[in-house]
Amino acid sequence: MLAYIGLGSNLNNPKQQIKDAVMALHAFEDVEVVNLSSLYQSPPVDGSKQPDYINAMVQVKTHLTALELLHVCQAIETQQHRVREKKWGARTIDLDIITYGVQVVASKQLVVPHPEMMNRAFVLIPLAELEDDLKVPVLGPIQDLIAKLGDYELTKL
Ligand code: ADP
Ligand code: MG
Repeated sequence: MLAYIGLGSNLNNPKQQIKDAVMALHAFEDVEVVNLSSLYQSPPVDGSKQPDYINAMVQVKTHLTALELLHVCQAIETQQHRVREKKWGARTIDLDIITYGVQVVASKQLVVPHPEMMNRAFVLIPLAELEDDLKVPVLGPIQDLIAKLGDYELTKL
């Protein structure tokens, strides 16, 4: 199975956080990172005073189920929070499953394709960098989703 995982960080050396998370994913048994997008920088969506976000997209190859893959993502989040987070509640790394092959999942724990992806330039643009003719299950062609985005601020690093 080929899946896309979106990574984001805005705390404690975000670029390193992203790189650490990619390495951690790859180090997991039965998770192979096959492609990695550029890093992208964007201001916080809510316009609050927190630092800019760094985002990236990875494509992984795995035999894990979508739910098992979510648990891997959560294990990495926990690992990087514990080691690096100074303030409770601060977000050092976020790993979201964006798509999992053509599979559609809607459970309490996991919704795939990711329910916010169509609203987020920092998900769609790195995803299109890796697969510009992707057809997202339920949502449709990636280029149509990008065309429907409003104005956005996103810098490719
Ligand atoms: P967010 O990513 O929305 O900022 P969190 O990372 O704290 O918030 O995730 C909250 C919950 O979202 C997790 O407990 C997880 O079970 C759920 N979730 C649902 N769908 C997904 C998905 N596709 N990828 C990652 N988490 C998901
Ligand atoms: Mg998340």
